[in-house]
Amino acid sequence: MKYRSCHLIEHGISIDIDSIKACCLSREFDKGRLPIIDKYENNTINWQEIFETKKRHRKHQKVMDLSLCQGCYNLREEDWDEEDYISYINFDHWSQCNSNCIYCCVQQTKPKTKNNVLKAMKELIKLGKFKNNGEITFQGGEPTLLKEFDDLIKLFTKQGSKIRVHSSGILFNRAIRNGLKRGEVSVVISPDSATDETYKIIKRVDKSKNVWKNIAHYRKGLKDNFANLVKVKYIIIPGINDNIEEVSIFLDKIKQLDIKSIIVDIEYTYANQHINNISPHIYILMDYIENFANKHDLNYELYDSAKYAIQNRTLEKLNQFDNTFIKEEIAKYLK
Ligand code: SF4
Ligand code: SF4
Repeated sequence: MKYRSCHLIEHGISIDIDSIKACCLSREFDKGRLPIIDKYENNTINWQEIFETKKRHRKHQKVMDLSLCQGCYNLREEDWDEEDYISYINFDHWSQCNSNCIYCCVQQTKPKTKNNVLKAMKELIKLGKFKNNGEITFQGGEPTLLKEFDDLIKLFTKQGSKIRVHSSGILFNRAIRNGLKRGEVSVVISPDSATDETYKIIKRVDKSKNVWKNIAHYRKGLKDNFANLVKVKYIIIPGINDNIEEVSIFLDKIKQLDIKSIIVDIEYTYANQHINNISPHIYILMDYIENFANKHDLNYELYDSAKYAIQNRTLEKLNQFDNTFIKEEIAKYLK
């Protein structure tokens, strides 16, 4: 049946420390994420309860957008299949990390935990309720510090899943490296800087050299068709790394290491508080990075805050029109 929804409402879960959500997106500052199960016990996930909640969410979507999803760029009208299965899993259930980023909300807000969800994942697969047509993502704290990390990678690569790991890059991990080589895993590392000084201000640890060495190590020797699986991210943080000098050195490093994929984002708190008045110089920096990516034939991707900022920039431009009909027509395509 055709209705407005998103792939995560339909078939996604984001496993948090003590609850399960549909996704890891917080549409508006402090409003929270769409909950599926408020409390789950270590090792046990009630899959039936998850599918029941998803049924309720679908029913809601057929009438109107769930309040926590309103305005999300992921919503689209489609012929959704409405079957009970999971295809998108975000592992976000721990908070240990070897970095200390100034913008981190994980270390500040999440309690330390020793959750282990491996058994529940095996159960999902055994039930035949996992479909391999989505993506498995890791974030949370530093995933490679998690005891069950290598086993989870093994379990889902066996299913032929597409896996994306967000890592600080401070430690080198063989499971990631092997997955990259086979084209099964991609890794996202976010130095947000190029110089040791700026790295230290942002990360509050002195590990810039390790991180760039590990990025080079992951990239080295990958076949051309897997080269874009090593993704290097730059989160623009106003007042710290939002200058052309740092960005230029960053792009020089990207070129030097033959990195084929860049991700850009804007620091979450700033983006949320200034979504209607993002400073123009931030858009200029984003254009600069995008032009570099186009010129060198690199993948260029935006993460959520940057996507909302760009959407807003386009809407700002739209407001310059005084032809209501044109505005409405264009706005349809921006939904
Ligand atoms: S907030 Fe967005 S991504 Fe998350 S479930 Fe709702 S529509 Fe999907
Ligand atoms: S790497 Fe991620 S989890 Fe670790 S401190 Fe930075 S933002 Fe937080």
